[in-house]
Amino acid sequence: MERRASSMRERMSSISRESVKAFLRRNLFVLFTIAAVALGVILGFALRPHNLSLREIKYFAFPGELLMRMLQMLVLPLIVSSLVTGISALDSKASSKMGMRAVVYYMVTTLTAVFIGIVMVMIIRPGKGSRDSPMTSGNIEPVQAADAFLDLIRYAPVGILFLIAGKIVEMKDLAQVGGQLGMYTVTVIVGLLIHGLFVLPLLYFLVTRKNPYSFIGGLLQALITALGTSSSSATLPITFRCLEENNHVDKRVTRFVLPVGATINMDGTALYEAVAAIFIAQVNNMDLNFGQILTISITATAASIGAAGIPQAGLVTMVIVLTSVGLPTDDITLIIAVDWFLDRLRTTTNVLGDSLGAGIVEHLSRGELQSQDAELGNSVIEENEKPYQLICQENDSLKHRNSETTM
Ligand code: ASP
Repeated sequence: MERRASSMRERMSSISRESVKAFLRRNLFVLFTIAAVALGVILGFALRPHNLSLREIKYFAFPGELLMRMLQMLVLPLIVSSLVTGISALDSKASSKMGMRAVVYYMVTTLTAVFIGIVMVMIIRPGKGSRDSPMTSGNIEPVQAADAFLDLIRYAPVGILFLIAGKIVEMKDLAQVGGQLGMYTVTVIVGLLIHGLFVLPLLYFLVTRKNPYSFIGGLLQALITALGTSSSSATLPITFRCLEENNHVDKRVTRFVLPVGATINMDGTALYEAVAAIFIAQVNNMDLNFGQILTISITATAASIGAAGIPQAGLVTMVIVLTSVGLPTDDITLIIAVDWFLDRLRTTTNVLGDSLGAGIVEHLSRGELQSQDAELGNSVIEENEKPYQLICQENDSLKHRNSETTM
């Protein structure tokens, strides 16, 4: 009895050891990226007391800049080639239907995000009370010969670690980010969390009847890269990989839907623009009527569509929203201090929205995709790019046949 129990225990421990190893092997890259973010935060805070000069910060953050540039370099060719292959793999009827579904999804989710933002900022009222003084931005660094040298070696691969640590070192006095600005930051974060963790997953579940959180689990690498780079365009290569390799979304869908989504579908940006505009109105003691709130919703949506998928693009298109309701555009300076941080969070939400959208569009378009497969044979998915399950099924049936012949 005891021997059986101990052999059972041994087997269990070897199974769990094996599964832990397999898990680590599968998720090594994601774990490294998470560790890089954590290390970046720690390193950034550890270096803050040393009061590095702007030039020293520039050198320190240089590896991060290399990563950004490398990713950005990939974006344009990737967008063009994926759109061309995506559209050419579909007949015109299928692509127009798929396009229509994607646009409806983009509109519905962006307007929902704006609505959540408006409700949150109305409830929390971060701009109430006496006005915080705006923070001054840093001095401009003169160009030196070393800059030319750094320019020379900007093509090499480096990490998210330095992007985050560099930003934390550069950050202005943390104590200043209290009061109204702190409440504003909390409002944006709560809005983004509600949209990203509840509303979008619920929509995915309602349409596909599949577990949205396991789908999101497959996107982890892309989400962390978005957090590190603040650019949905720069994250695009990773988003493609996560969707196609981890979540097995059809390449005809990702190649068609993702490049468009990364450029025009920005739920996080729309939410943030609405919150920021109403926050600035509250700071100026300006009561907004229903018409003005409606104007903010429409212009925030337009501004998010117009914003490029690059760092802090939303801050620039904010001007459209502010001028539409007669708010002072100079007051953008009030929120600049925390924008680098909020930008990372809204970019992550943008990438999440695009990716769940690709999953939803694939589900809705499965009829057309299957009938096209049946009619033409799948010309995009080559033999070595088949979905994992398909390969497993084929291997199983092959093994089965082999064992039958040997018997
Ligand atoms: N950085 C965001 C993005 O790339 C755009 C923004 O500034 O809101 O998705």
